[in-house]
Amino acid sequence: MGEFRMCPSCSYQRGFHVYFREPEGGGVVVGLICPNCGQSYDLAWRPGDLVAPLTIQPGEVFPAK
Ligand SMILES: [Zn+2]
Repeated sequence: MGEFRMCPSCSYQRGFHVYFREPEGGGVVVGLICPNCGQSYDLAWRPGDLVAPLTIQPGEVFPAK
């Protein structure tokens, strides 16, 4: 997969919102929610997977269709 920005559920193509959830047993789960249909996706991201400090660079602006 070269890119994941289209919702498989509704085909919305402009990316996702991020959510944070505290699972039983502690820790934090970071996942995605489609802003169009609300479908959530757990990509098994855990804060320990992230390399700090993060550098945020603006990327492509996806046009509305
Ligand atoms: Zn969707």
